[in-house]
Amino acid sequence: MIDKISEELIRYVISNYLHLFNDQEIEIYNSILRSNKVDTLSEENYNLLLSKKPTLFNNLIKITKDDKKKFYNSIVERLIDDGKIFVNRCPYCGSLAATPNSQRARCGHHWRNPTQLS
Ligand SMILES: [Zn+2]
Repeated sequence: MIDKISEELIRYVISNYLHLFNDQEIEIYNSILRSNKVDTLSEENYNLLLSKKPTLFNNLIKITKDDKKKFYNSIVERLIDDGKIFVNRCPYCGSLAATPNSQRARCGHHWRNPTQLS
């Protein structure tokens, strides 16, 4: 069963399973990161960065928000289908933990000792 792929799940996979991305996915991911950074720059800083670090602008891709979501969804689906990742959810409320080994989620529940909620 495919877990509903939320922004939160995408962030969880990127934080914990980036090493499972293939070379092409890593390349696109890095390009998206650089594009995001460049998009936030003022024109002045953009030109400054372009003059000082022109290689930063190599292979930059323009990707729409929808395509970005499709890109990440396809990776998450593949990794789940392949059984490569553990989606660590709180047994009480289903919210995502920060890491596959966490025993506490942002909801405040912890499940090392399920009778002791905090
Ligand atoms: Zn919870």
